[in-house]
Amino acid sequence: MITWSLPKILGGKNERELKKIRPIVRRINEIEISLQGETAEKLTMLTRKWQEHLARYHPLSAPTKSELESYDTPALEKIAKTLESRFLALADEFPAIPRNLSATVDSIEKAKAFFQEIESHFPSARAKYLQKILPEAYAVVKNAARRLSGSKIVVNGHAETWQMVHFDVQLIGGVALHRGLIAEMQTGEGKTLVATLPVYLNALTGLGVHVVTVNDYLAKRDSEWMGALFGFLGLTVGCLENQMPPTKRRTAYACDITYGTNSEFGFDYLRDNGMATTKDEQVQRGHYMAIIDEVDSVLIDDARTPLIITGASEQGPHPFDIHKPKIEKLVRLQTELCNQLAADAKQALEKGDTSAAGLLLLKLKLGQPRHRQFLRFMEKPELRRLLEKTELRYQQQAFRKDIFKLKEQLYFAIDEKGRDADLMEKGRIFLAPDDPDSFTIPDIGPNFAAIDADASLSREEKKIAKQKLHEQRNARAGTVHSISQLLKAYCLHERDVHYVVRDGKVTIIDESTGREMEGRRWSDGLHQAVEAKENVAVEDENHTFATITIQNYFRLYEKLAGMTGTGETEAAEFHDIYQLDVLPIPTNAPSLRIDENDQIFRTRREKFQAVISAVEKAHSSGQPVLIGTASVEASETLSRMLQRAKISHTVLNAKYHEQEAAIVALAGEAGAVTVSTNMAGRGTDIKLGKGVAELGGLFVIGTERHSSRRVDRQLRGRCSRQGDPGRSQFFISLEDDLMRNHSAPGQIASTMEQSISAARKDGKVISLGKLVETAQRQVEQQDYKNRKRVLDFDDVMNLQREIVYGQRNEILNTEDTRKLAHETIAECITCRMQGYFSEMEQFDPDFEPLIQWAESSLGIILDPGHLKTADPRQLLAEVVDEIAESYDQRLKKAPRVLVEQEERRAMLVAIDSLWQEHLADMDELREGVYLRSQGQKDPLVEYKNEGFKLFQKLMVSVQEQATGYLLQLASGLENYFSSAKAS
Ligand code: ADP
Ligand code: MG
Repeated sequence: MITWSLPKILGGKNERELKKIRPIVRRINEIEISLQGETAEKLTMLTRKWQEHLARYHPLSAPTKSELESYDTPALEKIAKTLESRFLALADEFPAIPRNLSATVDSIEKAKAFFQEIESHFPSARAKYLQKILPEAYAVVKNAARRLSGSKIVVNGHAETWQMVHFDVQLIGGVALHRGLIAEMQTGEGKTLVATLPVYLNALTGLGVHVVTVNDYLAKRDSEWMGALFGFLGLTVGCLENQMPPTKRRTAYACDITYGTNSEFGFDYLRDNGMATTKDEQVQRGHYMAIIDEVDSVLIDDARTPLIITGASEQGPHPFDIHKPKIEKLVRLQTELCNQLAADAKQALEKGDTSAAGLLLLKLKLGQPRHRQFLRFMEKPELRRLLEKTELRYQQQAFRKDIFKLKEQLYFAIDEKGRDADLMEKGRIFLAPDDPDSFTIPDIGPNFAAIDADASLSREEKKIAKQKLHEQRNARAGTVHSISQLLKAYCLHERDVHYVVRDGKVTIIDESTGREMEGRRWSDGLHQAVEAKENVAVEDENHTFATITIQNYFRLYEKLAGMTGTGETEAAEFHDIYQLDVLPIPTNAPSLRIDENDQIFRTRREKFQAVISAVEKAHSSGQPVLIGTASVEASETLSRMLQRAKISHTVLNAKYHEQEAAIVALAGEAGAVTVSTNMAGRGTDIKLGKGVAELGGLFVIGTERHSSRRVDRQLRGRCSRQGDPGRSQFFISLEDDLMRNHSAPGQIASTMEQSISAARKDGKVISLGKLVETAQRQVEQQDYKNRKRVLDFDDVMNLQREIVYGQRNEILNTEDTRKLAHETIAECITCRMQGYFSEMEQFDPDFEPLIQWAESSLGIILDPGHLKTADPRQLLAEVVDEIAESYDQRLKKAPRVLVEQEERRAMLVAIDSLWQEHLADMDELREGVYLRSQGQKDPLVEYKNEGFKLFQKLMVSVQEQATGYLLQLASGLENYFSSAKAS
């Protein structure tokens, strides 16, 4: 009952949402009709009127206090006038706003302060206004599209004719986007055009709307294509390109609308906030609104690896390079061992000793899950069942110990599903026969206790001894971690499946798209391990300048919205992580696509052969075929098979976006056969060639069910756009990854077996859709958990990053660097002195450490006699005042502008150098807590707690460092300017 009514309720919610939007669409169309009687100028006039109204909510750009102080009266008068005119526009809404500004620094400063106060009301005021003008504004965009129709525009160097006027469903999509929803619209529904509506409306604010695309090529295409419409209406459009210099980037961001990929936006943010040393170096001007095209690809697929800016490589061999030769040997040994296990298993099977065989299979799986012979065994359903039974038995509590014994017979144990590798005793002995323990992480608790109990050690000595233990332990943990990562690199990551090697670089292949993910790296040293395995230069990660996850980047925006053909299956994740709800929007014309049942085969080979025959059959009639694959390797295999069958075809490997788009665009021509990794050419329209509709349209073949249903839907969606005919079918086999890693492979296998034999009997293929989908759901959930985990860890970093970036920006933007410098110095002194006083014995205080510190760090001599009698709080105030005064005194002669610049620099350098060290420490901590997680503690909790402690330390060190730099600066400039005067 419940399962029956659930979809109805869900459908109902979407229906209600759509019903609410429909009257707005009617209204837009009414206005648009009336606009048809107007001139084109009416549109630009309306645009200007709205822009003008919204300009009152722009941030205020006024000179800093010290700049004002250097102005003469006429200059001040001018500033006062400009401010007055801005304030006038706000007077209705904020009656208390100052009206008559006088041309004094004081009056202008007061006005600035008032503005700051009312600024927090701007977002809601803006939103209200936008909502009010939405129907009219959307009508303006639609009308502009109508007027543009028939005119030639140049997109990517080709002249094209504009032929689009927004359909009603596109207007619905536009409303949904403005409301911050994910508009789910099928491929070919014209999402590019849909976005123009909310982009235009929100760009009127002048705050900059960012349109995020999945690749550079699409950013450029859409900025030029839609740029025609925006230009017509008088808005400016910019586009970020890879390798673009900062000046051009700044220009692109200064436009009303900026197109770019998520990496361009994200890396600019990191450079602006983590690296820029002056305000002028920053290129972004805020995060008002982002509209993300192919939002699932950006927020889900790309969100698995964070954006990282790393520093130059250090000299000297890398730990991975050091361990590699031995690990290589170890892997070889294990393979030999597994060969033997496989042979034994075969023998046991021949003898009919199934229980021995089951055990051997399990061992084989633990030892080398991608072992060739093992995979061949797994082609036989009865052996799969045997293995499954054995596994189940060992999962029972009573046998837990036995599984450990089983693992102990191997050099190392691999967990393919959990993507994990453990070095076992045998392996440890091989690596270090004399000291196998050097590969276990010691528990230092007891040692600590022993040190504490040792009366012969002084407090300081105890501290040192503990520190040493800590270091030893960390070094050990590092080695263990390196080895585990190398094992994973060798046993779980296959070249050309999981990554490619080109030009001395290891580039990740996105599993779902087959796309190479330039600039991304697997985290926790895995990437380096693969680099070591492939003999390419191991890049240094210890020097992280800045890093952020995609999730946390997009959370910066005040408004976020997205569009995709396939969002619903991921609705929960969008909601939980981004507070984005998905609204499926009906198609413009009813879909004519025929989704055939899956065809199931025992082996990959049989499956591929069936694919080739299906292609042959369709191809002989001239029907175009698009074959989607899950990996580059599969594409290549299929291509070879097609060649042998003498079918001319094109292969797309997600390498060159532009070329790809050109090829995919032709995939609908009569006789075309295109092999493509799942999402290559995404975003490009496949138009049907002449006469192709009569042949049944495009035939899409999937050669593997992907681990996420979304990717399958994406592939199917490549045909039957805008009411075209089309057909899709998946071919799957028991050897596909999805089947191998599914937690209930036995169930699938036996059902499949039944269906295969049934099919053999009466020539029918039974649908296994439900079972496959269950498998997919499980994998999706696991993937979501993994992404959530990355995010949970980054959230800890995110808090810290926000604080540090906040501080950096305060330094960059502050009007009064002196005030900040004073505060920094005061806080540092306070913290130190409180520390000294709290450590002193009450009746026999030792002032020596305090005196020494004051002399060496602050350059003042404290009088012990005075210290004895003074009230600590009083004393603190005295010291702070004294230092502040002498600081000001020393800088008196230096030019103000120079001092400000140097003060900024001093404080920034302190933050940056220590923050980078901190990032490395946090990385290390993360690895450490994972290793410790074997001790039943939740690594995340540990990471949070210890990360917090590290961060507190960081904050203190930053203050000290900055204070040191500031005091040095003061004496340096004093010397320079007094000697300059003298000479
Ligand atoms: P999507 O991103 O939704 O897959 P696109 O934005 O690539 O779709 O558009 C697909 C095709 O539909 C393009 O060729 C585009 O020119 C066409 N198109 C979009 N909207 C309209 C419209 N309102 N009228 C006519 N053609 C349209
Ligand atoms: Mg698109």
